[in-house]
Amino acid sequence: MQCPTCNHLNDAMSVRCLQCGTVLIHEAAGHSAAYKKAVRVLDARMYSGIGGLAGFFTIAIALKFVFTQHWLTDAEIVSAAGVSAVLGAFAGGMLARAKHPL
Ligand SMILES: [Zn+2]
Repeated sequence: MQCPTCNHLNDAMSVRCLQCGTVLIHEAAGHSAAYKKAVRVLDARMYSGIGGLAGFFTIAIALKFVFTQHWLTDAEIVSAAGVSAVLGAFAGGMLARAKHPL
């Protein structure tokens, strides 16, 4: 494979140019920074979504069906679950960031 940088003719299977060290096989360089960033963003959204849903339903179900001795109305239960959803989404985002350190 011919090096795009210095035009040195390398072996067909060479990962790097023998003369200048330029990476010849794209996969060897790993994913681009833009790709990694896109994965991070998508992951953060997914984790936040799951965390938010989990937080919402955990609190809503717990308040509605498990802790039935409380004084909360349905509207208050939904409010509490909404707060929990925000916390869950935040926790999910933190998890995604922990999984993909910069
Ligand atoms: Zn080269």
